[in-house]
Amino acid sequence: MTRSISILGATGSVGASTLDLIRRNREAWRVVALTANCSAAELAKLAREFGAEIAVVGDESCLGDLREGLSGSGIETAGGAQALCEAASRPVDLTVAAIVGCAGLAPVMAAIEQGGTIALANKEALVSAGDVMTRAVAQHGATLLPVDSEHNAIFQCLQGNAIEDVARITLTASGGPFRTWTQEQLDAATPEQAVAHPNWDMGAKISVDSATMMNKGLEYIEAHHLFPVGLERLRIVVHPQSVIHSMVEYRDGSTLAQLGPSDMRVPIASCLAWPQRMDTPLEPLDLTAIGELSFFAPDEQRFPATRLAREAVEAGGAAPAVLNAANEIAVAAFLAGHIPFTRIALSVEAILQQSNLPPAPATLDDVLDVDQAARARARELLEVA
Ligand code: NDP
Repeated sequence: MTRSISILGATGSVGASTLDLIRRNREAWRVVALTANCSAAELAKLAREFGAEIAVVGDESCLGDLREGLSGSGIETAGGAQALCEAASRPVDLTVAAIVGCAGLAPVMAAIEQGGTIALANKEALVSAGDVMTRAVAQHGATLLPVDSEHNAIFQCLQGNAIEDVARITLTASGGPFRTWTQEQLDAATPEQAVAHPNWDMGAKISVDSATMMNKGLEYIEAHHLFPVGLERLRIVVHPQSVIHSMVEYRDGSTLAQLGPSDMRVPIASCLAWPQRMDTPLEPLDLTAIGELSFFAPDEQRFPATRLAREAVEAGGAAPAVLNAANEIAVAAFLAGHIPFTRIALSVEAILQQSNLPPAPATLDDVLDVDQAARARARELLEVA
């Protein structure tokens, strides 16, 4: 049976892993919408290869290039933020939400409003919109499948069990490329060093988030919304080998863990085939070659981001959206060479500590307003455009 799929953020790392799996089983899928921000040539190539119905660039100034790349193909083209939402609201069996950052929020909400099934990689959307998004999911009868490897692991470990029986959820963290670095080394870390993750091959923003540990902080907030067991039952453990992707401990003392290769095609395949299973091209884990698994408590002195995320979600209201927006600006400033690595977390903390946190957002527009205001404050603080 053919299923229809749209991929938001098709030209990125998660998009590429998703399309790799689809390419191996072409006849099982009908591709409806593929989107990018401005990688017009790459998007046109993918749209032709997969016979997409429509290709959309978020940045309208790139629409001309997209049109040129798709001329004569019969594939529809569009550009701009509204066009992304319209493409995301085309009915499909599965939407893969893989845009990076809060830029993906409005398209994800458009897909949710169709009551469809959404494989969510775009964690920043859920961190920023939290209750607004989970309420919309319930209201429209949508289904969220977590793509993030940790949340996908937890989702798998929860199958067949009652959430009331969960004693604790453990999110594992690789610790990133700087896990063993001193404070002095961290102060001098370069963007090239930060994006060189030891276990995972990912886009630049999430790679930097992994290096600061903000990725785990965002995931902590994401887990809070996806698996409502209470913050006191959520913890983070550093596990440098990235073999166990997360664990669920039950009240009878049993702990279920999901293990797998550090390749996003595993959790993506779990979403594509859900509630069944499918083949992937990956070698099974060789546990004897891995030999040892180790675990450490996070060091919040050198990596304060997990503390900031915990404080933001405990504060609730607009704080997680402010945290996310400030982090997006600081990561972009670091990648552009404007600020040192350790200023990322410092500036997020400074923005969160500014008085007058806005009231809790009640609608998508409220979230976007909070996001924009926090971005403006972060740009001002960091003196970036
Ligand atoms: P990439 O940077 O590799 O790709 C991002 C995608 O989003 C690209 O298609 C990009 O288009 C598009 N995009 C960027 N900005 C905008 C915008 N303003 N409007 C519309 N589209 C935009 O990111 P990743 O694939 O690494 O990550 C995607 C999401 O998945 C993130 O939220 C990340 O946290 C999450 N995730 C990623 C994992 C990974 O292994 N990579 C693992 C778990 C979660 P263009 O090419 O034109 O810039």
